[in-house]
Amino acid sequence: MTLAFERNGSLCVEGVSLADIAARFGTPCYVYSRAALTAAFLAYTDTLRAHGVIDRSMVCYAIKANSNLAVLNVFARLGAGFDIVSGGELARVLAAGGSPDKIVFSGVGKKPAEMAEALKVGIHCFNIESASELATLNEVAESLGCIARISLRVNPDVDAKTHPYISTGLKSNKFGVAYTEAHAIYRHAASLRNIKVVGIDCHIGSQLLDPAPAAEAVDKLLSLVDALATDGIVIEHIDVGGGMGITYRSDEAAPSAAEYLAPMLVKLARRTEKLIFEPGRSLVGNAGLLLTRVDVLKPGEVKNFAIVDAAMNDLMRPAMYEAWHEIVKVGNSPAGAGVESRPRTAGTLHGREAVLRENPALPPSIYEIVGPVCESGDWLGHDRSLALSEGDLLAILSTGAYGMAMASNYNTRPRAAEVMVDGNDVHLIRQREAVAQLFALESLLP
Ligand SMILES: *Cc1c(COP(=O)(O)O)cnc(C)c1O
Repeated sequence: MTLAFERNGSLCVEGVSLADIAARFGTPCYVYSRAALTAAFLAYTDTLRAHGVIDRSMVCYAIKANSNLAVLNVFARLGAGFDIVSGGELARVLAAGGSPDKIVFSGVGKKPAEMAEALKVGIHCFNIESASELATLNEVAESLGCIARISLRVNPDVDAKTHPYISTGLKSNKFGVAYTEAHAIYRHAASLRNIKVVGIDCHIGSQLLDPAPAAEAVDKLLSLVDALATDGIVIEHIDVGGGMGITYRSDEAAPSAAEYLAPMLVKLARRTEKLIFEPGRSLVGNAGLLLTRVDVLKPGEVKNFAIVDAAMNDLMRPAMYEAWHEIVKVGNSPAGAGVESRPRTAGTLHGREAVLRENPALPPSIYEIVGPVCESGDWLGHDRSLALSEGDLLAILSTGAYGMAMASNYNTRPRAAEVMVDGNDVHLIRQREAVAQLFALESLLP
């Protein structure tokens, strides 16, 4: 499937040119591809089918990566379940047509009111992260006269070998219960009147490029499941969390879903438990890009700056994790005229492959790509070699995950518009915010 390709000097997503999207919806603008979202989801389910476990598996998209209703709806139509971490995310999934009985509720600080909402709609499972939370959930369930289905998020203490900010499976992290304490907490959970033990889960980190730590975590879960069974505690499902990494730069090789999942599926295929997967980034990351315009070129003695109309408030990952995103120039010429050139690589929007033929009259320079926010940390790319003029359009690639979802209104900047391309159509899926909306909830003193 061809997703991002060059046509007449203009970069396209599916059948729509990015220059046309910028002209119609303005910049900054997040652009998602329905075909890419679908392909990423099917890569999971195809792999589960190939290993013979599809009939006892549920892929629960971790919506914090990108929680736009249209994105959720694309996955809901494909039969996905959802992994949520707040009452707000529960409301989003329901508004997007997700089915409650395919929702798992993760997170270290669920409030009683959020638990009650989830119990009322009948979610599949609460992923419990502490003994205290278990006690609270039991009370909430009792007050509602119902039974809460729970899984314990166990911290398998494996090193996911990723950025410390997105590593979650070590003893020193705030997430999950200690491996050594899990059995005792399960025993206690099994004794509670309004709790039903149904599962076990873990989530060791994000942007994992090596499948080995996740497979190691599965081994640890399985030995705990077996130990629990000898104690009469039956685990119906094993939830291996999310975390599969994606390719951000063309010289870094992220595993395919098949490669990433195989080592753990070899172990799980021999079992009979139901399986839950919680992918976030890998379903959406390379299905989106951020379209931005160069407003000001500011050559300097030490650095050249290209000030663009997207900023750290739109895309926080560079400032927060020193994340690297490919930034490519988008041709400004109108689409439609002329024949299509060679289709680009399938499946993703990343890679220098997507670079357009640059204007030969303009030599490339090394630029700091920065936003207009008043912070030195407001950068989107360091030392990028691009041939730029003011007014040029740029695409910041691989921004479908943790892009818009982490956007803020810092500097009273309205959040970007979001659109989804579907074939030759483009749909506005979130309007650009208006400035008046940003302070509509504020009031002056009397
Ligand atoms: C964030 C998160 C995920 C998704 O992680 P990705 O790295 O985006 O796949 C899954 N499960 C839990 C509990 C999470 O917190």
